Amino acid sequence: MPTAVREPRLVVFNEALARRLGLDPESFTKAEATEVAALFAGNRLPESAEPLAQAYAGHQFGRFTVLGDGRAILLGEQRAPDGRLWDIQLKGPGRTPYSRGGDGRAALGPMLREYVISEAMHALGIPTTRSLAVVATGEPVFREQTLPGAVLTRVAASHLRVGTFEFAAAVGDRDVLRSLFDYAAARHDPGLEPGPDQPLAWLLAVAERQASLLAMWLGVGFVHGVMNTDNMAISGETIDYGPCAFLDAYSPGMVFSSIDHQGRYAFANQPRIAQWNLARLAEAVLPLLDADEARAVEKANEVLERFPTRFREHWLAGMRAKLGLADEEPGDAALVDALLEDMQSRQADFTNTFRDLTVKDPSTQWDGDTEEFRSWRLRWMERRSRERGPAATSQERMRRSNPAYIPRNARVEEALEAATKDGDLEPFGKLLDVVRNPYDHARDLPRYSAAPSPEAPRYRTFCGT
Ligand code: AMP
Ligand code: MG
Repeated sequence: MPTAVREPRLVVFNEALARRLGLDPESFTKAEATEVAALFAGNRLPESAEPLAQAYAGHQFGRFTVLGDGRAILLGEQRAPDGRLWDIQLKGPGRTPYSRGGDGRAALGPMLREYVISEAMHALGIPTTRSLAVVATGEPVFREQTLPGAVLTRVAASHLRVGTFEFAAAVGDRDVLRSLFDYAAARHDPGLEPGPDQPLAWLLAVAERQASLLAMWLGVGFVHGVMNTDNMAISGETIDYGPCAFLDAYSPGMVFSSIDHQGRYAFANQPRIAQWNLARLAEAVLPLLDADEARAVEKANEVLERFPTRFREHWLAGMRAKLGLADEEPGDAALVDALLEDMQSRQADFTNTFRDLTVKDPSTQWDGDTEEFRSWRLRWMERRSRERGPAATSQERMRRSNPAYIPRNARVEEALEAATKDGDLEPFGKLLDVVRNPYDHARDLPRYSAAPSPEAPRYRTFCGT
């Protein structure tokens, strides 16, 4: 059960999401503020809620550990009007049997960070868990400093992780593993034919979702930061917004997290890590793939070996869209690689480079232009001239594929600081409004699109636990 907090106060509430879930937003906006805050703090449970903390395991930075919801409690599931089923979970509601030495609590800054970045991801069209509300608890949490406490309400297609299967495998009872598998398959892949090949088809479906997800992350410059197997969802949603951040200057080796010393979860390493995590999933479900272990390994390997190709295909399709290309030509991958190499050598801002290509005339001289970039643009224009579709369609594809606005690190920090130190939610609300409309190229908000100055110190993130 959630542990009641002293003085809950609603900080932010997601009306659009409430509506989508089939909840009546008015019932929240019209209700007594204290009632609503009590609900999202876990002080008062919704009718028919059956709180539980889930067990899971996971490889954290490559090392196996038994974990569980140490600071999260699932309240229950909500059937939305579109028929989809959603987990409603409180993050930071107090200690659970899996809290180990932790307090089961969360701080306001990191919860608002999760809220705004998950909203941005959703608006970018990237599968993600979402945030329904954040309440301040009125209680302090003790980290390196004393911070204001908060509870976030997370909405997810499910909270089944790779680590959930690792846990079931570690229990060592095939029936447990099988029942988890049946549940997951019914929930996320109901279209799969039951039978002996179902587990392999499921593994392939999970891998396919990850290949697609990772391609999307790389397409917007997203660095998750802590891709441990317990932070990878079977649903294919982005989950666990801790030390994540978006690239400014394009750098394949970029790491923001202060604890990722080896660069394990660096920007361009993410697809490889996804494959590594899928290998842990495959190991966990091996007994379901085939009664013969050698055959099971062979089947799993087929899926895993196909992953880099599938990722690359999704990625290339995404990059083609970013460059306004619908047709496929063999030289396209080289064209993209040449652009990225040029961007890396110039430390070019990832988002703004693609934004400029979308809205500027590529044939003219640009501010700060280089010979190399200009000649790349000519090469690209020549390639585009061979597109069979109308130019306007190609242009529209670029507008829909290249965000003008991402949650810029400096703007995120500024908004969180105002909210947590001064109780001023205006910068947070403004940032939310901007990142909820990432493809609005007509909007001119230089403060929200500006790249940091080259002298700015490297942005650092923390797990926020
Ligand atoms: P993360 O790296 O944020 O996904 O967290 C890893 C594990 O640590 C999860 O099992 C969390 O439930 C647990 N954890 C993180 N913060 C806390 C906390 N404040 N109290 C208890 N458990 C926590
Ligand atoms: Mg986690």
